[in-house]
Amino acid sequence: MPQIQASLSSIATMDTSDPLANKREAFQLPKNKIYLDGNSLGPMTFAAKLRAEKVLAEQWGDDLITSWNKHQWIDLPEIIGEKIAPLIGAAEGQVICCDSVSINLFKVLAAALSLNTKRTKILSQSDNFPTDLYMTQGLQNLLGRERCELVTVTEDSIIESLDDSIAVLMLTQVNFRTGRVLDIQSITQAAKEKGILVIWDLAHSAGAIPVKLDEWQVDFAVGCGYKYFNGGPGAPAFVYVAKRHLCDLEQPLSGWMGHRSPFDFSPDYEKPSSIKQFLCGTPSVISMSVLDESLNLFKDISIEMIRQKSLALTDLFIQKVKQNDCLNGLKLITPLEHHLRGSQIAYCHNDAYAICQALIAQGIIADFRAPNILRFGFSPLFLRFKDIEDSVSSLVDVIENKKYLQEEFNKRLAVT
Ligand SMILES: *Cc1c(COP(=O)(O)O)cnc(C)c1O
Repeated sequence: MPQIQASLSSIATMDTSDPLANKREAFQLPKNKIYLDGNSLGPMTFAAKLRAEKVLAEQWGDDLITSWNKHQWIDLPEIIGEKIAPLIGAAEGQVICCDSVSINLFKVLAAALSLNTKRTKILSQSDNFPTDLYMTQGLQNLLGRERCELVTVTEDSIIESLDDSIAVLMLTQVNFRTGRVLDIQSITQAAKEKGILVIWDLAHSAGAIPVKLDEWQVDFAVGCGYKYFNGGPGAPAFVYVAKRHLCDLEQPLSGWMGHRSPFDFSPDYEKPSSIKQFLCGTPSVISMSVLDESLNLFKDISIEMIRQKSLALTDLFIQKVKQNDCLNGLKLITPLEHHLRGSQIAYCHNDAYAICQALIAQGIIADFRAPNILRFGFSPLFLRFKDIEDSVSSLVDVIENKKYLQEEFNKRLAVT
């Protein structure tokens, strides 16, 4: 007993000495729930809710179409891009908010091919997030294999697979299943030496892990607005393009919002030399306004602070799971080394789906990834160390008392 009390009091100390502790108050979190899924859909802030109300009632409601100028609706993609830029190590003029990650991937894949026309292959990791592979397959079907051919390899053989036939290397930094982190700097460097352009998908890193896109000479990157940036369901994504490429590249989704001067309504597309050439159609103003507001949370903190807390949270979770013998059927597939671990932890278990459902019934929101992965996300802006302790207690209850075997937890829902 004394030992348990000591560890409880040290967890309390971790919470009281946490420099990010007061960020939790910014979020409207449901009572009696612990949210370990902020890596999939960030929760709502009070400020975001107020902003949405204001955009609807005052801007759309009262000012109607004049809001494009009056409330700077037209500038939202750039305003948000510049808010995200310092969080991913990008100087001004290289990041813009628009569309979904999938659509932005299509744009940068085609753009990168347009800069490396003598080569045809796009190399990616075989267990990349499906949309990254699907979008490449779509481009391959459109252009034909003689101009675009997807090749996939395991994460361990990326470096050795780089050769002169490859035009583009497209990778996701944090593996969505295992939480393993790839080293952007060294992989980008190795690709560069072979004349390969690099695209990084930062969906599970932006807002959680420090990245230095300019310093590491990354060519293109895409990332998500609704994960660690808490931009709300379906929030628009962002795209980064290194300044050195903006003049020469071409991207095929040349919509009117990406025209040099859209309100000339000229019949021929002319690209601007700025990052705005990655815009396509009209921005989703309501959603973008919410994301714009949510990003203000990052104003007075650094990604390094977030990373430090994220590692402490995942360390504690792994340690608590390990301390309970009844949990040794959970097989950890996330690396223990800090530099290889994202802000999520994954375990394999044959009953992962049912365990996840039983946890949700106890108010612990985790998620399941087919076929057998139980995944916990750790978003440091609202989670407390105490939440880790409570989540593992629930996990013990669900597994030790075999609660997950109940029939209700074994029926598959549409979204898992
Ligand atoms: C979440 C996620 C996406 C999401 O793509 P959308 O088109 O915005 O739905 C893309 N790639 C990765 C690696 C992701 O984790």
